[in-house]
Amino acid sequence: MKRIICLIAVMFLMVFAGGSTATVQSSDNEASVSSTETTIPESPALPTDTEAMTDITTEITTEPPILTEIITDTETVMSTETSTVPADNETAPPPVTEPPVTEAPVTEPPVTEPTPSVDEVISWYFGPQLPVSDITTIPLAKNPSIDPAKPMLALTFDDGPSAHTERLLNIFKAHGGKGTFFVVGNSIGGKEATLSRMAAEGHEIGIHTWWHPQLTTLTDVAIVDEILMTRAKIYSATGVDTRIVRPPYGAIDDRVKAIGAKTGVCFVNWSVDTVDWRTRNATAVYNEVMNGARNGAIILCHDLHGSTVDAMETVIPKLIADGYQLVTVSELLSYSNTYLVPGGLYNRQ
Ligand code: ZN
Repeated sequence: MKRIICLIAVMFLMVFAGGSTATVQSSDNEASVSSTETTIPESPALPTDTEAMTDITTEITTEPPILTEIITDTETVMSTETSTVPADNETAPPPVTEPPVTEAPVTEPPVTEPTPSVDEVISWYFGPQLPVSDITTIPLAKNPSIDPAKPMLALTFDDGPSAHTERLLNIFKAHGGKGTFFVVGNSIGGKEATLSRMAAEGHEIGIHTWWHPQLTTLTDVAIVDEILMTRAKIYSATGVDTRIVRPPYGAIDDRVKAIGAKTGVCFVNWSVDTVDWRTRNATAVYNEVMNGARNGAIILCHDLHGSTVDAMETVIPKLIADGYQLVTVSELLSYSNTYLVPGGLYNRQ
């Protein structure tokens, strides 16, 4: 009933609005109908129509929510649909794998390019992986805690880091003295903390190549990689940019030295070989060290072997008791050299 009143009210309103409504809605059919009824006299009941208008307004305003709901539902459906579309796309890999195909031509040229030069390979390391250093000299810093008036020697350990290296560090820590560790690059992964500890406790870390090959048998570029890849790995693990190399088997020639000069490293061999790798006996290692111990000696050992580390339990305290300062290679060489020369070979003081 109220709805009928409302409609009547609308009719009145339209008539009352007359031409002004028609001008606004000139293209509207309803407007043209109302314009034909402009002859109906004004009704005194009009003022009460405000209530009806309110109702109409209410009705009109209550209707949109239904539409909104429909729209919302539609959106929900659409969003549900659209959300399922990407899912389908995800299960279809071709579009994802397409971009690499377009990139392929970019990666092709290097394959067809000739082997990179030594200088090119070196440039891959300095800057991206290693700090750029002066390759004309390798500076040496004297350790003020070392007394040059007293005998000193350098215990060096190759082929680590190994499962025995931490124990060796414990022995040094318990008795004092420092060692030099020529590490193999491919053994560092997983033992970065051991290298960090070496550096933090004052030991020296040197390069013993990545794969432990005989450098004299390799191409120039391969020698560069063996040296600089290991140097970069040590730098990454410790923040120390080492510049000393022990060539595997002590094998070195002028070509290897020339590569050393280009890569800014020098080579350090030894004056006493304990042949611990062959004897694998702690007593034998102990005797070899004691027979070779003298001021300025560089002693070759391998922390790869448990028997060598066993020997150090007695070697290190005995050498210290005999008055030797157990110093690093660089500390030892700092008393016979003001600096080291890249490409140089150092055996003893
Ligand atoms: Zn070795």
